[in-house]
Amino acid sequence: MTEHHPVFSPSSFPMLAECPCFERAADEAAFLMEPSEKITAYRDRGTLLHEVFASRLEGLPNSDDTHLTPHESEGIDWAVDYVRAHISTDYPIEIEQRLVLLDDSFNIVTFGTGDVLNGPRLFDLKTGDYHNYWLQIATYALAQMDRIGVDEVEFAVLFSRFKKAHELRIDRGQAHWRIFNVVGAVLDPKKKPRANPYCRWCRKIATCSAVVHLATGEEIERYEYAEPNELSEALVRARLLKDWAAKIEQEAKKAALSGMELPGFELKSRQGAREIMDLHRAYELSGFSAEEFIILCSLPIGALEDAIAIKSGIPKSRAKRLVNSELAEVIRRKAPTVHLASTQKIEPTEA
Ligand code: SF4
Repeated sequence: MTEHHPVFSPSSFPMLAECPCFERAADEAAFLMEPSEKITAYRDRGTLLHEVFASRLEGLPNSDDTHLTPHESEGIDWAVDYVRAHISTDYPIEIEQRLVLLDDSFNIVTFGTGDVLNGPRLFDLKTGDYHNYWLQIATYALAQMDRIGVDEVEFAVLFSRFKKAHELRIDRGQAHWRIFNVVGAVLDPKKKPRANPYCRWCRKIATCSAVVHLATGEEIERYEYAEPNELSEALVRARLLKDWAAKIEQEAKKAALSGMELPGFELKSRQGAREIMDLHRAYELSGFSAEEFIILCSLPIGALEDAIAIKSGIPKSRAKRLVNSELAEVIRRKAPTVHLASTQKIEPTEA
């Protein structure tokens, strides 16, 4: 009888290749420090776009089409056109087909859904940013090779947001070697964690010996933080490291801006956020009624207090009291938040 091992999701292969001890955090939002609604919205968006992609390929009407932005809709149309232009009538076209990869003992290694399979041609829709996907798609490629009995497939990864296709050829030897190397490392009872950029998605990050060693230089096999003192000391260290990390980011950016080349990094510019320069004119141009428009505007209380202080020539503290009393009926406090304040006073030392 063969021993069954855990089933790995195709998307976890890139992480497991970096660290065989990686375990995806159940609540990724908390680890990414992103609001969970943002992550859910992002996932729901991806699912919706995949559904529309499948419907358009099948020539079926999809009531969700109308929920797409024009840019998303164009991206999906581009992906559909790409698939239609590259499929072969020699093979069946299978949309959203389940693929299962087995090991030599017929244990399931991983399974997932192939977006479009056309014999030895596979197409995978990606609706987000470019990222490292080779190992993930290699699992689909190898499963399809086993399924149809070939040793090589062509894969097109379709980035609908950018209307760009990454085309690659994957052969059995290459895919098998890399995938089962990862599986072997994960199943190795002597495996050790290796700190890497995916740690932020790993549920072990707070107690992982590799990460703590990297951060503090301490060689401790296991961190539990079971005692209040241990947790408190770790928090002091964590805040110090946060400051250190922010400074390193700042220094590295400064160095790169002055022309230093940092291996593994490149300077990229991002468009600045848009802002309305003339609110009054924006109202006229928007076509909204005053009631509709004002709902979209926000008034920072601090800015109102500053304006009153300047206009009336009174101190800011008095303007604040005035705002609190005169506008009491329209001011409310948001729900309180909790933070851990340090009870140790740190004074800057004299130079
Ligand atoms: S936190 Fe530790 S176990 Fe998790 S991926 Fe990083 S090094 Fe590996």
